[in-house]
Amino acid sequence: MRITGTIINYYFHCKRQCYLFANRINLEDNSEDVRIGKVLHEIRAKDKDEAEIKYENVVLDKVTAKYIEEYKKSDADPEASKMQLLFYLKQLKDKGIEKQGKLIYEEKNRKDGRKVEIIKLDDVNIKKLNNCIENIEVLINGDKIPEVEKDNKCKKCAYYDYCYL
Ligand code: SF4
Repeated sequence: MRITGTIINYYFHCKRQCYLFANRINLEDNSEDVRIGKVLHEIRAKDKDEAEIKYENVVLDKVTAKYIEEYKKSDADPEASKMQLLFYLKQLKDKGIEKQGKLIYEEKNRKDGRKVEIIKLDDVNIKKLNNCIENIEVLINGDKIPEVEKDNKCKKCAYYDYCYL
């Protein structure tokens, strides 16, 4: 199984979700939350005449001269978003392209507008990312599906029916 940014994101959100997604049990099309994310994506692409950029196992929201920009509809899971972006930065660095990351949270209800965080692929972050990838590989290649987490986040998860019904 090839690691992707989405798998990394899910690892921080929920180990069970990470395992299920990585092992191709994909229920995302049923999720209202995922659909909202996709619509946000499409609207932004239309407004700015930009589309996401895909290559190999990487999907980038937007690339500028200095940054890879990753758009999120909430800052509820900052570590997941950060590690996902670090993964993309590392993939590009391995191809000889060095950039910084820009995490942009576009939460509708934010009074202070957008929140932006700059992410750098320094030695500390590379080490963190490598550790994380090793842990994910152990998890998703294992025989045991992690237990249901029974948390509030489950209500918005694409796997809710799978886990609870
Ligand atoms: S419903 Fe909850 S336990 Fe199941 S995959 Fe989603 S977040 Fe994890």
